[in-house]
Amino acid sequence: MQIKNYIRDIQDFPKEGILFKDITPLLNDPIAREESLKILLDSLKGQKIDKVVGAESRGFFFGMLLADKLNAGFVPVRKPKKLPFKTISASYDLEYGTDSLEMHIDAIKKGDRVLIHDDVLATGGTAKALCDLVNELGGEIVQCNFLMELSFLNGREKINENPIFAAITY
Ligand code: AMP
Repeated sequence: MQIKNYIRDIQDFPKEGILFKDITPLLNDPIAREESLKILLDSLKGQKIDKVVGAESRGFFFGMLLADKLNAGFVPVRKPKKLPFKTISASYDLEYGTDSLEMHIDAIKKGDRVLIHDDVLATGGTAKALCDLVNELGGEIVQCNFLMELSFLNGREKINENPIFAAITY
């Protein structure tokens, strides 16, 4: 079982020049999904996790599966104005301009051991914003993990003070 075989490349989506890594074939196959989850869990080597933080929207799929297996809470991080309660926010750079992500202010308690998850680590802007949010609430980041890392974009340099794991590296 090679989980790489369940990632579909879509050229020029959502815009020209982007090679989009589509995880829907992987989500659609229970064995590939189980294997991906196992790889992510094995990388944690039994470390205790209190909260899993997942980024909107593709970080929610495995973020929730990880939280369930780890017997941890799940914290959704969302685009601005989507979360109903009081939030904190962190901004990050896009190719043109900036964007931001929000998290509920009570989602993480000081000292919580946190796993950050997203589907893809690309330029690292999203992951850095996730780390900033967790740090602001006093969480302890145990690992940032991803299904895929696009290593040629050097995203890990933005979050390299934290342990980083990717199930697949391109
Ligand atoms: P970045 O902030 O540049 O590291 O981008 C990471 C976020 O954008 C993740 O939430 C991904 O879902 C998405 N993303 C970036 N590049 C790709 C790609 N080539 N294929 C699929 N998703 C991507």
